[in-house]
This record gives sequence, C-alpha cells and structure tokens, in this order.
Amino acid sequence: MRHGNQIPVPVMVRVKQGALARTGLYLQRAGFRNVAVLQSESLIAPLPQLLRNSLNEHGIKAEVWNEVKAIDVESALELYCNLPGDVSAIVGLGGGKALDVAKYVATLARLPYFALPTSLSQDGFCSPQSSMTVGGQRRSLPAAIPYGLVIDSQVCRQAPKQLTLSGVGDLVAKFTAVRDWKLAFHQTGEPVDDFAALLSDGSVHAFLSHPSFDDEGVRLLATALMMNGIAMVMCGSSRPASGSEHLISHALDRILQPPKLHGLQVGVATYLVSRLQGEHSERIDRVFQETGFWDLLTQDPFPREQWLQAVRLAGTLKKSFHTILSARDVLPEVESLIGNDPRLSRVIV
Ligand SMILES: [Zn+2]
Repeated sequence: MRHGNQIPVPVMVRVKQGALARTGLYLQRAGFRNVAVLQSESLIAPLPQLLRNSLNEHGIKAEVWNEVKAIDVESALELYCNLPGDVSAIVGLGGGKALDVAKYVATLARLPYFALPTSLSQDGFCSPQSSMTVGGQRRSLPAAIPYGLVIDSQVCRQAPKQLTLSGVGDLVAKFTAVRDWKLAFHQTGEPVDDFAALLSDGSVHAFLSHPSFDDEGVRLLATALMMNGIAMVMCGSSRPASGSEHLISHALDRILQPPKLHGLQVGVATYLVSRLQGEHSERIDRVFQETGFWDLLTQDPFPREQWLQAVRLAGTLKKSFHTILSARDVLPEVESLIGNDPRLSRVIV
C-alpha cells in the first residue's frame, strides 16, 4: 500500500513575456554558475543571443554550447562524457529534438535541467521521457523532468503557427487518452490513477475557453502542456496524455514519407478516436475550428490509403496497451468516417 506521493515537479516555472532574457537571473538566483547549453540547430539568431547576453550579464559561464544534430542515444552519451566537471546545470534551448537530448544528458549526468522551449509544439518539454533513437529505432527513454522551466510567451508567439497548432493537437489527446485508460480498466483491470487523470483537466479547459494565440492563450497552452507532463510523472506512465491517438501517430511516423508534426498527426487522430469513442468530438472540433487547426490541414491533407494503413498498424504496436483499437475492429468505422465526416473528409483525402 502506498502512503502518499512524493512527486518530482519543476522547482522553478516562469511563463511570461521576456522570460528568455531573464534566464541568467533565474540561474543566478538558484545558485548555478557554470552551465552547459544544448540548443536546436535551426533557431533564429536573436534567440541564442538573448540567452547568451543574459548569462553574461549575470556572470553565468556557458562551459559548453552545442547545437544538437542527432537524437541517437550514443551521441547523447558522448555529450554526457564530454561535460566538464564543473558544470552544475544543463540548459536546453529550442524545440523537440534539442530539448529531448538536453533532458536525457541531464538525466545521465544527474544534473538539474532547465528547459527553454521556443515553441509549444508538443508536451515533451516537461514529460518524464526523452524520445531518442537506439540502434536506429525510435524509443521513449525514461528521463528526469526539468528542474526549471522558462517559457517566454513572446518568443513562443513568434514561432511558426503550425508548431503552436501541433501543441493544441497534442493537448486535446488528453480526452481520448483518458477515455482509453478507463476502457482498459473496465476490460483488463489496469488501474486508473484518478488524480493523474484529473490533474491537467483544469488547465486544458482553461485553454479551451480561451483558444487563441495571444499572450494569455499561449500562457494557458504552455501551462496545460506542462501539467500533462506532471500527470505522467505522477502515475509513472504516459496514460494520462497518450492513448490510441498516439499509437496512430506512431504508425504514421513509420508510414508517411516524411511524417507531419507530431501534434498535427495526433490531433487528427484524436478527433477520429473521439468519434469512435462517442465522446468529446464537438469540443475538439470547436477548438480546432477556432484555432485554425482544420484550415491548416485542409491546405495540406493526409493521404487516405496511408492513413488507413496506419490505423491497421497502430493496433499492433503495443500489445499489452489496451485501447479502443484492441476493443473491436474499428477499420470499417474508420473508413466510413474518413469518407463521410465533414471534417475528416477534408483533411484525409
Ligand atoms: Zn504527444
């Protein structure tokens, strides 16, 4: 029997305009003097410069400043082995790949990790996993969640809109993921952690009631994605934020050349799965309409055949992971929905 929880959560969270340029101050206050910075390759020049100036201004020395080029575990191990001994914190700046690697290097080194996402394309910036490749295969490896989270709402607002829409797609997956989790409980007895399932609810609804990308909307989206990550830490699995809609996206990653952004795939799969589950479709549709999610995908739709292939493959990806895909043969329904649903028929053609 468990007696209470001791859940690691970020010690420092700043979500506001101008936060990136204050990173040096945050590190200084927390007592860190020597850091290693790992950043995305393709960042626009002013962003690393903002960080560099802020570190200089507060006497923080970047012992290492690397652009992350690979997500294989061997490269991360090399970065870890080459860390100077006096580095006392890892700082990750940029998008998915760099943040995954920085988080993993910090986990290997057992050092506090500061995540500085420059876009909100998915919930990985605060999740207890790093998406890496091991022997060429994509894997989710356990990782420690950030010690510090610095989200500059102004910087995230300037990111390409499709990245933010991808974050919206990843966020609404919570609806279908929790529904799948409850289904697994009824059919296989897998326990649902009620509190973890509830944790991000409030913050998701806060964004749904203000689904725009102004400063307030971006702040709400960032907070909701962060709470998804904490919910995963709390129950020790990805169940609160990842169900059959993520399996479909993983299958698309293997089938599409090239795949689309994680949250764009997940978002469409979430709406499809919500139709199969018979719940939450209207709410998801509304936020997709209001944010322009459907419009973006209508301009660049998915191919129908590959999508059907992905649904078929998705059910076989994680055998012991019970979802609506394991509960019944959904293919005939999926074919009919892709053909007839007014939203799906425009984004899968
Ligand atoms: Zn996701």
